[in-house]
Amino acid sequence: MTAPTTSRRPSTLAPPVRTRARTALSPLAPGHAHISGGFWWTRQDRNRVDALAAGYEQLEASGTLDNFRIAAGTCTGRVKGMIFQDSDVYKWLEAVAHEIGRAEDPLLRSRQEEVTALVAAAQQPDGYLNSVHQLRHGPEERYSDLAWNHELYCYGHLFQAAVAQARSTGKTTLLDVSLRVLDHLVAVFGVGRHEGVPGHPEIEMALVELYRETGRDHALELARFFVDRRGHGYLSSLGHEPTYFSDRVPVREASTVEGHAVRALYLAAGATDLAIEGADIELLAHLRSVFATMLATKTYVTGGMGSRWVGEAYGDPYELSTDHGYAETCAGIAVLQWAWRLLLASGDEQYADVIERTLFNAILPGVSLDGTEFFYVNPLQLRSGAQLTGGTSAVNGRRGWFQCACCPPNVMRTLSSLDQYIATATEGGLQIHQFASGTYTANVGLERLGIEVTTGYPHDGRVVLRVVEAPETVASLSVRIPAWAESALLDAGDGLQEVAGSGVQVLDRRFQIGEEIVLDIDMSPRFVTAPHRVDASRGTVALERGPLVYAIEQADQEGSALVDDALVDPGAPVVEHPIEDLDGVVAVDLTGAAAPEPSAATIDRSWPYAPWTPEPAPAKAHVWRAIPYFAWANRGIGPMRVWLPVISGSR
Ligand SMILES: [Zn+2]
Repeated sequence: MTAPTTSRRPSTLAPPVRTRARTALSPLAPGHAHISGGFWWTRQDRNRVDALAAGYEQLEASGTLDNFRIAAGTCTGRVKGMIFQDSDVYKWLEAVAHEIGRAEDPLLRSRQEEVTALVAAAQQPDGYLNSVHQLRHGPEERYSDLAWNHELYCYGHLFQAAVAQARSTGKTTLLDVSLRVLDHLVAVFGVGRHEGVPGHPEIEMALVELYRETGRDHALELARFFVDRRGHGYLSSLGHEPTYFSDRVPVREASTVEGHAVRALYLAAGATDLAIEGADIELLAHLRSVFATMLATKTYVTGGMGSRWVGEAYGDPYELSTDHGYAETCAGIAVLQWAWRLLLASGDEQYADVIERTLFNAILPGVSLDGTEFFYVNPLQLRSGAQLTGGTSAVNGRRGWFQCACCPPNVMRTLSSLDQYIATATEGGLQIHQFASGTYTANVGLERLGIEVTTGYPHDGRVVLRVVEAPETVASLSVRIPAWAESALLDAGDGLQEVAGSGVQVLDRRFQIGEEIVLDIDMSPRFVTAPHRVDASRGTVALERGPLVYAIEQADQEGSALVDDALVDPGAPVVEHPIEDLDGVVAVDLTGAAAPEPSAATIDRSWPYAPWTPEPAPAKAHVWRAIPYFAWANRGIGPMRVWLPVISGSR
């Protein structure tokens, strides 16, 4: 397989076309970011070669493409699937567009053109487009149930696909469809017209992106209308519980995220886009405060979002159950999108830290190592004896598709656009936020600063940055020093310096082509604890190594001891084992013990609770092998846990 080498146009979030927007950092210019090797390239390659092909087949098998054909009148049959099924096609189209932007592919290109034509053919003469709604409901029912019918949500994904397609191929078929939808929406929605808001946010950030691509002011105004209108009781006036919809209070008054996690995060990302475009410092500061509260009280150690199955929702502060945690893959993607916008807006490197944690530990677990199977839900523990439940449960293992297939194509578009999340530019230089082998270039005046990154990250902490293009003038190169790093050495040509704790290292100078800057981050395993209010994780530790959260999975354990009974001694030495299995991760052996297995219920002794004693029951010494959490459930499904109970009296 060949690494992608070309990219003609930007694949995501290009700079606005005309705006008074102010951001601290800008996305790299068209063709200036290429992941070309290493860990993330492997993930992208499987996404490109295997997942997009499998996705196309799933769209066909599920009837999703047929819905468009039937709506267009080119075939007959019964409409199938969820009311928001069109969005699966749009997410897949967006992923394909990003991939064609990275490297040409005739098969992907022909499928892109075929599916784009299906979408265009299904659009109604007045611009309305929702194949499922068109086939199930009459025109008089349009936008009559905004809470659940997802018409506006689907448009959001259509717009994002259209912008990606226009940028990567120069073709505007999907963009033309989107602009007809926009004209239609402007005629329907607004003050004095339909004053409803979407039940599922998504269109807000997509409208801003459509504005950035086309300069259509109406798109920006409509996004602002949907965000400002929210929280004033429209959805609750229809009889709906407002918290679920992030409709309890206006965005500017919300103190935290609540309700359905993906809804809350997409709304926040869209509001951040509006804060950027409007240079609205007050709104941006408010959103940063909400983000900080979310991190402090409602975020799993993996970066996962949303702890409740009911409503796929955030729980109360510190309500972060491990075995019943929801942490939908899409919610990880949503927080990535919000954090990226906050990073651009503020330049604050803490958002890049969140992006890193989320990518490796909240999004990546959502896809199998071979790229074609997906978790919808990402709990931090699976118990022995877990029962098969609904289709989205992790008990089923990863799956190729779901009845509600939001996650698989969302992962596809995220991996295919990953190049754009690695680095940013300012007028004076380049900022490296994530460590992925590849080449990243910033315009500095009329010249360029280009850096080639080579690294074995996330398993190895050595990152080599080689200058491949250098301006004649002084330029700035900044490198994130991960917040988790207990020690990090930087050699910028004048010897090794300890830089851990600095957040970011900035080098201002005249760079020379061929010079190397070496960052060496200590990847020693470390144990972390949860805030004491997280009752579900009290008395436990989690293992981290580099940016990766670890888990112990039954498949790795010697003997008959179950991970349900694991105890560890976080004060004892650990042993690292690079292994070939699981695409070559570093396994970590932990000193610990196995608690006595609870006795099975018997007629005369079934009560499991016993009087408290100062001496716990003796445990048997045991070594537990841990692997990166993202890699679990690739050898069948079995017991697993991230939070590890500590042996009483540990050092
Ligand atoms: Zn999802």
